[in-house]
Amino acid sequence: MDFKKLEKFLKDEGQPAFRLKQIKKAVFQDGIISFDEISVLPKILRDLSEKNFKIMPFKKSEVFVSGDKKAYKAILYLVDDKIIETVLMEGAIENNWSLCVSTQAGCAMRCAFCATGAGGFIRNLSAEEIWGQVLFWKSYMRKEKIIGKISNVVYMGMGEPFNNLENVFESIKILIDKDAFGIGQRSISVSTCGILPGIEKFAKEFPQVNLAISLHAANDKLRSDLMPINKSYNLKDLAGELKKYLSKSKRKVFIEYILLDGVNDDLKNARELINYLRSIGYPHLLHMNLIVFNPPQRIIESPFKPSSRNQARKFQEFLKSNGFNATIRKSLGQDIQGACGQLAGKSCLSADRQIS
Ligand code: SF4
Repeated sequence: MDFKKLEKFLKDEGQPAFRLKQIKKAVFQDGIISFDEISVLPKILRDLSEKNFKIMPFKKSEVFVSGDKKAYKAILYLVDDKIIETVLMEGAIENNWSLCVSTQAGCAMRCAFCATGAGGFIRNLSAEEIWGQVLFWKSYMRKEKIIGKISNVVYMGMGEPFNNLENVFESIKILIDKDAFGIGQRSISVSTCGILPGIEKFAKEFPQVNLAISLHAANDKLRSDLMPINKSYNLKDLAGELKKYLSKSKRKVFIEYILLDGVNDDLKNARELINYLRSIGYPHLLHMNLIVFNPPQRIIESPFKPSSRNQARKFQEFLKSNGFNATIRKSLGQDIQGACGQLAGKSCLSADRQIS
């Protein structure tokens, strides 16, 4: 919903200024997505607003719930019938939920291991379609009586955020606005495959929002095979940009590394990675997130296999013994195709499904 238009509408209707505040509180804080349910508004205004505005930018949704009820994936239908996916996951702290949002329908980056990339680029999402995903989950949690709050938002769903810079920035402004969602900047993370001009602009605009880099290989040949973006911005260029970012921000950067069996997960790869991280400098500010590959079953045939737990642990220990922080990310939502790298804008064939 365009809140500027709503503000003008309320003014033209002779409504006092506090009406807008009441509506914003109901929508952003309470997750109410129908004017009919905003009980503090007079009935006539509720009816008028309902007739003239639509709070949610989605036509339809389907939600899949993982067996352990720790992950929820939604397929959202946009007004032009394109589809995107977004995931709600239980966080490390009880009653704290993390949300993964998409920034594009499809993606042009074509990373070899990624289900989204396999489908190609469809279109950019508007700012409203991005922050609308947060609102969608707020309203879902309210309706389904899921206890807790959304404590983290990660821009790691479908699409490359820095290929849709303007709308991503606009959406972050709504997320951090105290009169809107009011989420702390440090509770938001944006992940890029390494679009260097985007990193520079992001650092200027949101110095407190977390940056994550999808690395996945530390030699140019392998990284270019896995991530074609490496042919435009290679590892040396990326290291230079990160050095600049770290020297200015002094903020931790998260380095994402998907572990693919027999491809990038042996000790030679780990040694290359350590040398690369050292070339960036600031080792205490680099945090390695190791993600055991989640094969996108039933959607595309993947040539990759996940590394074994044993191999993942060996890789992690090697990094740690060389002084780097490294965690193996807990993977939630595999049974609903909602884990990292599995989002593809397609319906799941199993798992509990709710349609609205
Ligand atoms: S991993 Fe990210 S950047 Fe690469 S294709 Fe998938 S969505 Fe795009």
